[in-house]
Amino acid sequence: MSVIVLDRGSYTWEDAGKELDWQPGGGINIAHEAVRRHALSDRRDHVAIRCIRQDRSCINLTYAELNTQASRFAVVLRRLGVRDGHTVAVLLGRTPELYIAALGTWMRTAMFCPLYAAFGPEPIRQRLVRGDVQVLVTTTSMFERKVWHMMSALSELQTVLLTDAPSHMAPNVLSLPLLMADADADHVIPRTDPQTPASLHFTSGTTGMPKGAVHVHNAILTHVATARSVLELRDDDVFWCTADPGWVTGTSYGIIAPLVCGVTMVVDEAEFDASRWYGILEEHRVTVWYTAPTAIRRLMRLHIKPRETFDLSALRSVHSVGEPLPADAVRWGMDMLGMPVLDNWWQTETGGIMIANTPSMSVRPGSMGLPVPGVTAAIAEVTNTEARIIETPDVQGQLVLQRNVPSLCTTYLHEDERYKRLFRGIWYITGDIAKRDSDGYFWYVGRGDDIIKTSGHMVGPFEVERVLVEHRAVVEAAVIGMPDPVVGEFVRAYVVLADGVGNSEMIRQDILAEARRRLGPAVAPKEILVVDAIPKTRSGKIMRRLLKARAQGLPEGDTSTIEQG
Ligand code: AMP
Repeated sequence: MSVIVLDRGSYTWEDAGKELDWQPGGGINIAHEAVRRHALSDRRDHVAIRCIRQDRSCINLTYAELNTQASRFAVVLRRLGVRDGHTVAVLLGRTPELYIAALGTWMRTAMFCPLYAAFGPEPIRQRLVRGDVQVLVTTTSMFERKVWHMMSALSELQTVLLTDAPSHMAPNVLSLPLLMADADADHVIPRTDPQTPASLHFTSGTTGMPKGAVHVHNAILTHVATARSVLELRDDDVFWCTADPGWVTGTSYGIIAPLVCGVTMVVDEAEFDASRWYGILEEHRVTVWYTAPTAIRRLMRLHIKPRETFDLSALRSVHSVGEPLPADAVRWGMDMLGMPVLDNWWQTETGGIMIANTPSMSVRPGSMGLPVPGVTAAIAEVTNTEARIIETPDVQGQLVLQRNVPSLCTTYLHEDERYKRLFRGIWYITGDIAKRDSDGYFWYVGRGDDIIKTSGHMVGPFEVERVLVEHRAVVEAAVIGMPDPVVGEFVRAYVVLADGVGNSEMIRQDILAEARRRLGPAVAPKEILVVDAIPKTRSGKIMRRLLKARAQGLPEGDTSTIEQG
């Protein structure tokens, strides 16, 4: 492998393009860049994926093995008649077959659509129908529990491939191991136009039916660029992304970014468990760890001092995405891990990291960081026809990005009109509210639809939540607006108290008083309710819409659409 000297400070997707092979005539294919080219180089015997089983035994797949398996899968798809533009959905946990299926699907230039394995039948049905899915890859157990009974209603679905069935179950429900055993590993990756659809990620935001964001092969430029400039991945890294494969992070940074950089990525089949996680960091000498605020908060809640119990000396950086990362979590990283937890911001539509704190920059705890090289981000006032950029620092407004980002989704499947409404000229409207300080750092305020308008003030729930969780008695907090005839909306907070703290008038008053002191009476909650748990999406985001509906006695809506982030 050639040694690439990187100036990460300004490393943009144009530099990323120079790192890649490309195909004759300017084609680019994710599977070629992430696996095939490594399998054909002296990187072939390097471990690409280390899957840690529930019992902590490991399955290692080298780049050469991964390429062979993915190639076989592509041949299976070809024999089943899967063509360009067809969609292959994968309903699996973090098992080797998931990665093989994703890469094989890209080799076949079909579209890969990951489904969250914990979904029940209804969200699965919705996505299979809305995604026009032709092939579903899953296990026998998930198939029998969640899909079998509705097969007749899924007219597009031609074939189900079972990853663990020893024999075919029905003419259209087939054993993947049998088909793989019979397939040659000689799939030739066709020249792939950079704008060929590669992945379909369903996202719901906070309202409406799930939207199918389509990402193209060209998105890999963002994945490489941010892997270098934000995660600072190097050849000898061991990278661990804890995101569920059902969400976009699980594809962009749980498959594409680490593989394209040729590193070893760790995959844990099991769900969160603090000791297990620290144990994995230690045993596998993880160097770069990409996780989420929910996990960090859970670790913070425990009385484990990780560096006293575990050898974390290999760890070079810890990154977080998905929700706001409060300043105390950044500081906890410094105290407990010996390095700050580095927040970064992006969303399903952007396909990759857009705003970030990086190991090489000076971190402002509580800030999302600076736009990554190549990305132009701004705060704007958005009308029906334009985005008026607000140059004055520290003013709250809509977070917008210039649309020239290679990984920005190219449409919402079957909903191009809805997609077009995301733009005003050159600007993509993210739907988030944020501020930019005078040094260019971005600070998250909230989702546009969660913003509370109280006595003429705009209050971002997260601004209030982050102060509440810094109170010694509070572990988690969620804030919503409640209708009020005088002030429009008043601020209501739900809090989960720390273990051993009793729910009393005194403690609620104490939390309120501190919030008033720190936030001012206009922004502080008027009311605090103590609850056992805060409702969250499967991907860990607070379901404020659900809290609001419950609080106002409104229908809770289609929970399948708010199950994801
Ligand atoms: P999703 O499309 O499900 O990945 O959700 C994207 C949304 O999650 C963003 O629009 C933000 O509202 C929120 N989000 C993601 N990362 C961050 C972050 N670092 N800080 C604050 N909010 C975030």
